[in-house]
Amino acid sequence: MINIPTKARVVIVGGGISGCSVAYHLAKLGWTDIVLLERKQLTSGTTWHAAGLIGQLRASQNMTRLAKYSADLYVKLEAETGIATGMRQNGSITVALTEERKEEIYRQASLARAFDVDVQEISPQEVKMLVFTQN
Ligand SMILES: Cc1cc2nc3c(=O)[nH]c(=O)nc-3n(C[C@H](O)[C@H](O)[C@H](O)COP(=O)(O)OP(=O)(O)OC[C@H]3O[C@@H](n4cnc5c(N)ncnc54)[C@H](O)[C@@H]3O)c2cc1C
Repeated sequence: MINIPTKARVVIVGGGISGCSVAYHLAKLGWTDIVLLERKQLTSGTTWHAAGLIGQLRASQNMTRLAKYSADLYVKLEAETGIATGMRQNGSITVALTEERKEEIYRQASLARAFDVDVQEISPQEVKMLVFTQN
């Protein structure tokens, strides 16, 4: 039987990534009187299904900043907590099969550069080389 406090400075409902993140960041700011309520098991909701991918380029600069912040945080978490997160920074390759799609990807690449996301344009030959080197 768990004794749940009857009062707290902050009560967070839901122990998915959102609730855990709020608890983590409040604790980092020095808040101690935090209760996180989870009806089942921590991360057993949608968070359990997530593939764990952190796409860097988002629709706005602020969302891109948030994704970048998350990636940087997950890299540092093991050193901070002693618990391995399994975080690996692999990057990704987006390929186009049509000229129109290529144009669209080039535009996304320009946006990525404007948002300070590391992006490189590579040739089909380089894609082949990279894919074969990885496998
Ligand atoms: C198949 C799949 C793959 C995905 N892959 C990715 C990915 O690669 N990268 C990515 O960034 N995102 C991914 N997502 C999206 C990501 O999983 C969600 O955006 C994220 O997990 C949402 O987290 P959350 O904390 O808001 O919700 P949840 O993880 O659903 O957490 C809500 C929690 O609240 C609890 N709860 C609900 N009601 C109550 C109550 N009344 N009292 C107490 N507890 C309650 C639930 O039990 C649950 O644990 C994926 C989603 C799916 C479905």
